[in-house]
Amino acid sequence: MKTIAAIATGNAVGGIGVVRISGDEAIAVADKVFKSADSTPLSSLKGYRAKFGNIIEKGKAIDNAVALVFRGPKSYTGEDVVELSVHGGLLIVQKTLQAVLTAGAVPAQAGEFTKRAFLNGKMDLTQAESVADLISSQGEENMKASFNALQGSLSKTINSVLERLLDCSALMAAWVDYPDEEIEELSNDKLIDTLSQVRSQLDNLLKNYDCGQAITNGIDTAIVGRPNVGKSSLMNMLSGTDKSIVTHIEGTTRDVVEGDVTLGGIVLHLRDTAGIRQSDDVVESIGIEKAYNALDNAQLVLAVFDSSKPIDEKDVELAEMCAGKAAVAVINKTDLHAEFDIDKIKDRFKKTVYICAKDSVGLEDLSRCVNELMGVAEFDSSAPMLANARQKQNCQNAYDEICQALDGAKSGMTFDAINVMIDSAADELLSLTGRKATTEVVNNIFSKFCVGK
Ligand code: GDP
Repeated sequence: MKTIAAIATGNAVGGIGVVRISGDEAIAVADKVFKSADSTPLSSLKGYRAKFGNIIEKGKAIDNAVALVFRGPKSYTGEDVVELSVHGGLLIVQKTLQAVLTAGAVPAQAGEFTKRAFLNGKMDLTQAESVADLISSQGEENMKASFNALQGSLSKTINSVLERLLDCSALMAAWVDYPDEEIEELSNDKLIDTLSQVRSQLDNLLKNYDCGQAITNGIDTAIVGRPNVGKSSLMNMLSGTDKSIVTHIEGTTRDVVEGDVTLGGIVLHLRDTAGIRQSDDVVESIGIEKAYNALDNAQLVLAVFDSSKPIDEKDVELAEMCAGKAAVAVINKTDLHAEFDIDKIKDRFKKTVYICAKDSVGLEDLSRCVNELMGVAEFDSSAPMLANARQKQNCQNAYDEICQALDGAKSGMTFDAINVMIDSAADELLSLTGRKATTEVVNNIFSKFCVGK
């Protein structure tokens, strides 16, 4: 592999600027541009040694520098690495890099140092991704989670799941292929037990991801309900501003009105939508279509019902649409005489809350419900966490395969059929950590890095 070089520090004036060189020729290249004060060549140094000296360009010293030598495999990339620290003026750092390139290195691509670290087995993909996350992290929780991942907490969990699966798979394969040999018998009970444990480990990861995302990115929330039940009033109660116009004429909330509110420490991206009902009015119909879409795409649904009106088929229809979703039945207008038969829809919702949007009553209950529903209370930022959609998808696919395998095991499916699913699950996890990731995936990940990392 070619010897690469790049400026490792930011594109701004600072006290120190660092040019990093990595590859077989790193030390030889550095020796061409750096002369130590005591004339010792860097090539005579062991790893983890530093020398003070000058950067030489066309025979002349252009700056003082400290050269730090790492000998592979004990370096960030796993290759020989030299870091030249010079004064942090933009021009001087660029000139140093230019001298290094003239001496035989080639410019590093975005993320190439970390990519080499990955290819040389210094870290897996989850750790490599956490390097990029750590650099770009803004929130403190986010930063903590990225550092945890860099320390390998996610890799450890995934690898322990993988070990279980591969053990299981090997045993099953041996059992199927060599039925006459004396191989430790794999009972269906033991298989079910292992698969259940794996499923719960993966489930924890997926839940923690959703919750972490909810806390860091906010939750897409749809407020839905028939016209006039008080959706806009709820939106206003949550946002404390008059984002939606509240009137008593049915169907006045024509379109999705958006806004962010904080409820019990989490951000809800609110969408207040047109009422769920059939309409001949074209404008109104467009609004209703959006309402259906909003409900489909939302991570949290607040379905509002008017407690002062008898339940009708539209309410039931809405409740049906909410079944299985993270949805709260918000029973509004509790200041009026109760006519609504909540029992007809209650079992379709994970939570039910009573409010009076007009007087802003019930906000705390709603906040508690949403927190419980989204698992915020149990969220543990120090637990291993999937960092992005790629990792989540791999984990989800593995989880789905394991659920199928478990169903299979419970219904007496043959071991070789179950093993196919276990192998697919293992493949997904191997892609997650990069032990089996395609070049395309790897290239895509590192292309998002900055140059010099
Ligand atoms: P939307 O069509 O679902 O957005 O409903 P609105 O928020 O526009 O409210 C419809 C009507 O119900 C308005 O006249 C509100 O003042 C009224 N309303 C909303 N919330 C309450 C409540 O808690 N109690 C009472 N009595 N009226 C309410």
